[in-house]
Amino acid sequence: MYIYEKAPAKINLMLDVLHKRNDGFHEVEMIMTMVDLADRLTLSDPGSSRISLSSQSGYIPLDDKNLAVRAARLLRQRFGVSRGVHMHLEKRIPVAAGLAGGSSDAAAALRGLNRLWELGLSMAELEELGAELGSDVPFCVRGGTALATGRGERLEELPNPPRCWVILAKPPINVSTADVYGNLKAAEIDVHPSASGMRQALERGSFADVCGGLGNVLEDVTLKLYPDVGRLKGVMEHLGADGVLMSGSGPTVFGLVSKEEKAKRICNGLRGFCAEVYAVRTLG
Ligand code: ATP
Repeated sequence: MYIYEKAPAKINLMLDVLHKRNDGFHEVEMIMTMVDLADRLTLSDPGSSRISLSSQSGYIPLDDKNLAVRAARLLRQRFGVSRGVHMHLEKRIPVAAGLAGGSSDAAAALRGLNRLWELGLSMAELEELGAELGSDVPFCVRGGTALATGRGERLEELPNPPRCWVILAKPPINVSTADVYGNLKAAEIDVHPSASGMRQALERGSFADVCGGLGNVLEDVTLKLYPDVGRLKGVMEHLGADGVLMSGSGPTVFGLVSKEEKAKRICNGLRGFCAEVYAVRTLG
């Protein structure tokens, strides 16, 4: 028996950091939404107790460092499962890009193993387990669009943004999320994007207001460390995207575009500046 799970990428429509907590994590407010660029995870029973992973990608670890493998080990240990799994990951989401590829793979592994091993866990239980693997995993378990608070694990469902094109451009830089947070001085942020403003834009279904409310306090940090990200943002704005923002801790920059013709033009224009460009859609 084979089980298939899609692991979509996410973008942050807004990301704010409120303060650094005593446990070392940052208290955040993020509004995230899934886009239709996805990894594909196939799970099968190996007929033994082995947990293994294969992938066509040369950019990810295949051992216990891989979040999908860690998800399998966590479930097995927590629920005393003796069965194994072979997972094949068709990686399409760029790695270390700010698109939560690893977190989404972990979430897909949790959902898929819940079915393969017939654990009968609820979505809420899977989200809670996901929080042990990473702050973005609970959102990736649930999908859709949500406001995430705490360190990212407390979720409130929001309406999806109006259907539009999302142009993703990833410069050839690998950004470490830990480095970006390490360089952030939370107390010195002077402009905070508004979670309530973005929530209202989504509730109104207003594409213009969603574009107007985009904001990410990690942008300044990453742009200082990697000026190429700022240049790419400038190009995307110059080419006429309706709203432009860096996703997560970067370095992927995304542009929201309502019209297909314009999206094509922007993609073509970007190709001279950036090798990795994707035109995808929000999930409506
Ligand atoms: P986020 O937006 O959540 O910060 P990201 O998109 O920046 O995530 P990932 O693609 O998840 O970053 O990869 C971050 C690191 O995690 C990589 O350096 C990689 O070695 C490791 N990793 C572990 N498991 C995976 C996986 N399944 N896919 C991709 N990277 C993985």
